[in-house]
Amino acid sequence: MRILIVGAGIAGLATHRALSLRGFKPTIVDRNPGAGEGGAGLFLPGNSVRALEQLGLLDALLKHSHPIARQRICDENGRLLHEIDTAEFWSAVGPCRGTRRSTLWQLLRDGIDTDLITTSVETIDERDDHCRVRFDDGKSGEYDLVIGADGVGFSVRRLTFPDCRGPDYVGNVCWRFIVHNICGVADWTVMLGRDRSLLCKPISPSELYVYADLSVPKHEVSRYSATTRLRPLFDGVAGPLQPVLRLAGSADVHFAALVRLRLDRWHRGRVVLVGDAAHAGPPSMAQGAGMAVEDALVLADELAGRDDLTAALARFEARRKPRADWVHRQNASRDRARRLPRVVRNALFRFGGAMLYRHSYAPLTDPV
Ligand SMILES: Cc1cc2nc3c(=O)[nH]c(=O)nc-3n(C[C@H](O)[C@H](O)[C@H](O)COP(=O)(O)OP(=O)(O)OC[C@H]3O[C@@H](n4cnc5c(N)ncnc54)[C@H](O)[C@@H]3O)c2cc1C
Repeated sequence: MRILIVGAGIAGLATHRALSLRGFKPTIVDRNPGAGEGGAGLFLPGNSVRALEQLGLLDALLKHSHPIARQRICDENGRLLHEIDTAEFWSAVGPCRGTRRSTLWQLLRDGIDTDLITTSVETIDERDDHCRVRFDDGKSGEYDLVIGADGVGFSVRRLTFPDCRGPDYVGNVCWRFIVHNICGVADWTVMLGRDRSLLCKPISPSELYVYADLSVPKHEVSRYSATTRLRPLFDGVAGPLQPVLRLAGSADVHFAALVRLRLDRWHRGRVVLVGDAAHAGPPSMAQGAGMAVEDALVLADELAGRDDLTAALARFEARRKPRADWVHRQNASRDRARRLPRVVRNALFRFGGAMLYRHSYAPLTDPV
């Protein structure tokens, strides 16, 4: 089968690897020659690590990531509201790890023995028995299947589902950066304010991935950027993590307005979407990378098992969409819980934290 993967982010590379393990020889393109660069850190819960293990990457990942055994939820003053024994919760699934996005990207890239072609898709013309794809470098090709792994942007989705809705802003902007772990934070630790939060997670013995978010009405998003001074915004929720804010000025800060993408369908004809292109969401459940890798495994499984492409794509969507919808709903309810009045929110996390965590994540411990 002639397969084109558009996008060499985590989803595209994982799909390439999963398909290669099943004997396919896909072509992969990315419009950005520096697709692996940039980004800050990723928290990989147990199901994400299990999916990477199924791609044969567990040993490499364990070598290039940091263990996260506990998740601590604190109020804005650093008082502990709840602590989750993540190692215990995920013990039957896989360890939880923190790493750089660029490290995970490189681990996935190392398994690919073909070149990443730098180009972008301009048109996808579907015929009876193939797709004719034209690229922006003037070249074109014929494929039996086009996989849109091109993130939350618009290309393959727009070309294939011209009438589909775009991503919705979820009401938060965020800043992400990596600094030296001067606070000695050993666990995933979040400090919750009413409309903002500050989260730190170790990604190596000496490095901390910092994520700060703020509720902002849509019409005010343009007031914020990667160069916004974070100390005045987050001083009130920084507690014992305050010193990391001082380091933001010398870090490579990534700014984003958080969005959610909910599509009715992920495939049409000979085109299918995976990863953020199909179901991007805010990072509250830390499932962006893990869901992308799980998509890759399930798609490869379905394509290898069937001759009928339409049936394989339908099965892929049926196996994956309920899980992605679940993550969307849990992202939304976690964001709602954080925005409750302080006293209610603190009581909820103090007395119901374990139940909330189990409720959100238990379905994700099921095999894909
Ligand atoms: C630069 C970057 C930094 C990120 N940083 C973080 C982070 O710090 N923390 C975090 O939790 N998540 C981060 N993410 C998001 C996280 O990596 C994703 O949610 C998750 O890995 C799933 O990604 P994906 O592969 O589906 O999409 P993406 O990671 O968005 O990858 C899509 C790829 O498709 C390429 N592409 C887009 N349009 C076209 C086109 N028309 N033709 C060809 N190629 C195209 C893009 O260049 C990109 O490489 C980042 C994403 C990016 C792109």
